[in-house]
Amino acid sequence: MSTKRYIVGNWKMNHSLKELDAFWSQLKSTDFTKFESNAWIAPQGIHLSKCLEMAGSGIKLGAQNCHHKLSGAFTGEASPSALKDMGAEFVIIGHSERRAIFNESHEELNLKVKTALELGLKVIFCVGETLQERNEGRVFAVNQNQIHQGLKGIDPSKLGSLLVAYEPVWAIGTGVTASPEQAEEVHHFLRELLGKFLGRNSIPLLYGGSVKPANIKDLLSKPNIDGGLVGGASLKASDFLKLVEAAG
Ligand code: PEP
Repeated sequence: MSTKRYIVGNWKMNHSLKELDAFWSQLKSTDFTKFESNAWIAPQGIHLSKCLEMAGSGIKLGAQNCHHKLSGAFTGEASPSALKDMGAEFVIIGHSERRAIFNESHEELNLKVKTALELGLKVIFCVGETLQERNEGRVFAVNQNQIHQGLKGIDPSKLGSLLVAYEPVWAIGTGVTASPEQAEEVHHFLRELLGKFLGRNSIPLLYGGSVKPANIKDLLSKPNIDGGLVGGASLKASDFLKLVEAAG
């Protein structure tokens, strides 16, 4: 189990420049180095440098996605090395929106994970079942398959840069949070699975799916929940700060 907790904001395709300004000006006097926990935010890629200029000390910034190649004829894509050059320290890979809306395959995600880790980026690899898969009793099988396919063949020396987020698709952006018990059940399973599959049971495990200041403490009280990957509630500076405070 990891000791430090994580609160990671995934801003998706949100925030205008004016809203960015408002967010960071509310937090400019907050020194995030004073918190035990890690505070990370993934803004839209095009806002990365602006956020780096405005963010106060102690917050790491990252990307929501990247291509698996470093450069080339891939119109409209974001190069992981360009993101790193800009100051991204981590990248989210395999978010359910990337899987479902952009049809990203297990193979593609596996290549992205390997490229990003090779470059020295930290990777948050997302897994999670749909409601239908849960209702069919396939929670463990689906999550196991996503881990096996997405994380196979990783250089063992890079595992210190890997985090895994369990994000049940039915809880993302719906306001329906998995109960701490439901989340812990899957996190416990993932902890053992990663121990067996990658030989490492200390990979930080984040829960994502309608995390809010009101439910973060209960989720973090569970032994295998090391943090939260947060969409909606991370967009408001006061809520983001409350989440980081709650994580200690
Ligand atoms: C997410 O986008 O990863 C997420 C968990 O969103 P929300 O917190 O809004 O459910």
